[in-house]
Amino acid sequence: MKSELKKIILRHGKEESLGRFHPWIFSGAIHHTESDLPLEEGDIVEVLASDGHFLALGHWQIGSIAVRVLTFNRQPIDKAFWHKRLTAALDVRRAIGVAGREGNDIYRLVHGEGDNLPGLVIDVYGATAVIQAHSVGMHVCRHDIAAALRDVMSENLKAIYYKSETTLPFKAQLGQENGFIWGENNNNIACENGLAFHIDWLKGQKTGFFVDQRDNRSLVEQYARGRRVLNMFCYTGGFSVYAMRGGAELVHSVDSSAKAVELVDANIALNFPGDDRHEAFAEDAFKFMDEMQSIYDLIILDPPAFAKHKDALKNALRGYTKLNARAFERIQHGGILFTFSCSQAVNKDQFRTAVFTASAIARRKVRILHQLHQPADHPINIYHPEGEYLKGLVLYVE
Ligand code: SAH
Repeated sequence: MKSELKKIILRHGKEESLGRFHPWIFSGAIHHTESDLPLEEGDIVEVLASDGHFLALGHWQIGSIAVRVLTFNRQPIDKAFWHKRLTAALDVRRAIGVAGREGNDIYRLVHGEGDNLPGLVIDVYGATAVIQAHSVGMHVCRHDIAAALRDVMSENLKAIYYKSETTLPFKAQLGQENGFIWGENNNNIACENGLAFHIDWLKGQKTGFFVDQRDNRSLVEQYARGRRVLNMFCYTGGFSVYAMRGGAELVHSVDSSAKAVELVDANIALNFPGDDRHEAFAEDAFKFMDEMQSIYDLIILDPPAFAKHKDALKNALRGYTKLNARAFERIQHGGILFTFSCSQAVNKDQFRTAVFTASAIARRKVRILHQLHQPADHPINIYHPEGEYLKGLVLYVE
């Protein structure tokens, strides 16, 4: 194949990480570029070693990650390419049983590097798919991706919403607006493990729902019977709805966003109309925990990412310690604490140390019952360990 793509030539020795199929090329690894036209963010570029041999094709972008690799083979990045990658992604979701299963039509179809599509997220909510681009390259390709998605999902899909306003690099100035690429707003109620949820893809956080807690919500359901549950940072109330089905005695959901509280109330009403075991509070987590009575024997802490970058790590760890210490201080004897971190910059050991410090501050005896992580539809590319971000512990507090 004769290539007219712009070329990026790496410094001597910098091809090594690509030999290990790592999908990122950092700007410092680049020796020079070869092209008649200037490089533009989002371009598909050919990456060559210092001796000129072909290494990869990827999306070029401004920043410390300069190229996100799409393929280590020479091949056209066309509709057939997207079709093949999306088919492979859907095959995995069918194999693990989240797609095409009775009672479940919420799942992540594409998880970036985990599906060999760096910078791309696609979540499926019933007959609507939400595409989210985290790189300009994926933004540029959005219509090809949407066309391939329609083919791959065929009659299961009625609409594709594009929601990248807040995830694209703001410096790129793409004038990006969220909106439907295909179809229109339709039924926004979708199902997870037999429970129904209103999904707000138009205004909600992320693509509208936190799909990544599905398995962990099921575990909460298993522990909920007869317990008094506090779901802190509840957002749409996923954990609350499962706790209700699990037979909790009462469930309190807390989020600082009034919109989230509306959503959790709506989701409870959808699944358990007239059930008065649930109450939601729009309040700051720390304020609520400082003032609450020690009535809870199952507490869920699923805060937003405290560290979005490595430089925020120290403060983030302090935040996790403070938050968990409050929970340890207030949870009933024999209580169960589900505690999470979704910060990519915080690793499993650091999170565990922060929680360990919190239990020591509260002077409670604590056993680790489960160590939790992201579900199978958020797979981790083995060559890209950075893809592991969600960590959780289930603790028995004596
Ligand atoms: N557990 C949720 C996802 C949580 S996302 C689920 O399973 O879907 C984090 C949530 O924390 C957001 O809804 C955000 O509004 C809320 N939040 C952020 N800061 C907060 C604070 N200081 N107090 C309470 N809620 C907060």
